[in-house]
Amino acid sequence: MILNNIDHIAIAVKNLEQSIKLYEEMFGLKCYLIEDVDDQKVKTAFFKLGNVKLELLESSDPQSPIAKFIEKRGEGMHHIAYLVEDVQSSLIELEGKGVQLIDKYPRTGAENLNIAFIHPKSTFGVLTELVGKKK
Ligand code: ZN
Repeated sequence: MILNNIDHIAIAVKNLEQSIKLYEEMFGLKCYLIEDVDDQKVKTAFFKLGNVKLELLESSDPQSPIAKFIEKRGEGMHHIAYLVEDVQSSLIELEGKGVQLIDKYPRTGAENLNIAFIHPKSTFGVLTELVGKKK
């Protein structure tokens, strides 16, 4: 498997609307997508910076992983996502190498892409996501 490039960097925020406004006014970016990802109980907002995206994440449920993350660590950098050709085969390969996975199978993320998370214990404390087009 090869990490083709960074797909996006995700930041956990308490208030999506205020955060979007800040990124638009402070950095001149334009939010091109706001999407609820029910599976992860988050509301996401996306910006494009070249071929890398910035993802802002707001919890839509007090029990969601994002809510717990913010409760424990405050707002901030949440995960980094790498683009791969095929998420499922990457997961099989990583598992074979002893990498601790959060998702053994791809799930559907924002923009109808396949996504899967690798446990931060296996990646130096950084929650890592693999992203790929659905096959
Ligand atoms: Zn992500």
